[in-house]
Amino acid sequence: MAQASGMLGDGSKAVKVHHLVKAPENSADSVRIRESWDATEPATVYKTPEILPDGTPCTAATVIFRTRGCVWWWKSGCTFCGYFNDVRDDVTADDLFAQWEESKRRLDDFEGCSMVKVYTSGTFFEDRENPPEWQEAILKETHERDLHLVIEAQAQMCTPEKLAWVAERHPGCTVAIGLEAYDDTVLRFHVNKGFSTKQWHRSIDMLRENGLRVKTYLLFKPPFMSEGDALQHTSKWISQVAPLSDDVSVNPMNIQKRTIVERLFRNREYRPPWLWSLVEMLEQVHDDVLRAGARIIVHPTAGGRIRGAHNCGACDMDIVAAIERYSVSGDIGEFAGLDCDCKRVWRTEVDNDLSLPTPLGTGVDRRGSPVDLARAP
Ligand code: SF4
Ligand SMILES: [Zn+2]
Repeated sequence: MAQASGMLGDGSKAVKVHHLVKAPENSADSVRIRESWDATEPATVYKTPEILPDGTPCTAATVIFRTRGCVWWWKSGCTFCGYFNDVRDDVTADDLFAQWEESKRRLDDFEGCSMVKVYTSGTFFEDRENPPEWQEAILKETHERDLHLVIEAQAQMCTPEKLAWVAERHPGCTVAIGLEAYDDTVLRFHVNKGFSTKQWHRSIDMLRENGLRVKTYLLFKPPFMSEGDALQHTSKWISQVAPLSDDVSVNPMNIQKRTIVERLFRNREYRPPWLWSLVEMLEQVHDDVLRAGARIIVHPTAGGRIRGAHNCGACDMDIVAAIERYSVSGDIGEFAGLDCDCKRVWRTEVDNDLSLPTPLGTGVDRRGSPVDLARAP
């Protein structure tokens, strides 16, 4: 009896597994890395091919700012998110304005661009993360210059007042929300997202009421999920969220530094998704997404590398290129004729995942010859 009540706890607040294994964000090393950043320079800037809301191909500039970082991360944080590695907790409004000027300098003042994506490693319009005067300046300047703006937010940060404020300064801009999974259990136990599907629905209703565009990010293969389940679930989620979104962007898991997912990966308990799964997923959902009038985008970050979505190593670059082309052309014919010996290995893994009682999957955690893998210590 004593033992049983011990297992049930002593009445004190339960400790979440997430907090026990959370990345050591304030270790000397981690702080040193963060403080080595120059707060007046953006984390990254680059240009990519994109599509405007009316379907016209264009060039988009992406600016990733160094900010104070995501409020949710400092409180708890998503299991896969390594954005905190790029932030500084002492960034000022002056620093952010300096980063914007420096970004424009590096991007030739957006020469040839019709779209700008402003990413802040958190919620763009969250006042604890970013000073309101800076938010206002970015919204207004991009609107005045006729640049379509894409910003990111967490669902619970979307309030009627704030969205009306944003829509007044940059009408019709796109707000991207990292929903990750259209499933409350996965959100809670696999992703630790900090909001529910109900909150997401509320936020997209508010975005629509304010005439803003909705972009939805989904995460392919969160931790503690097999390859087969990831394929099945994500395909279903895409079909469910596409009718409610203008764009659906699926992010295949990549291992970011000092995250919970990295710990699992180092422990050989997690393998990033197969590129074949992404191809199969796109083939499964293509018609549904078209019918819904949405667009689906997949950019496999670190695609073909061990820390990103990958196959056997020999076919990776061809598959990544086809996925990237599909994200711009929307033409399912991009995948015609792709093949490799490793496709059979992948297919067997997915079939086994879906027929055997192994919730964490049946696949091996590394690519390479199965004999070598079995011999490895
Ligand atoms: S809400 Fe976004 S920025 Fe914040 S911890 Fe999650 S993924 Fe990272
Ligand atoms: Zn291959």
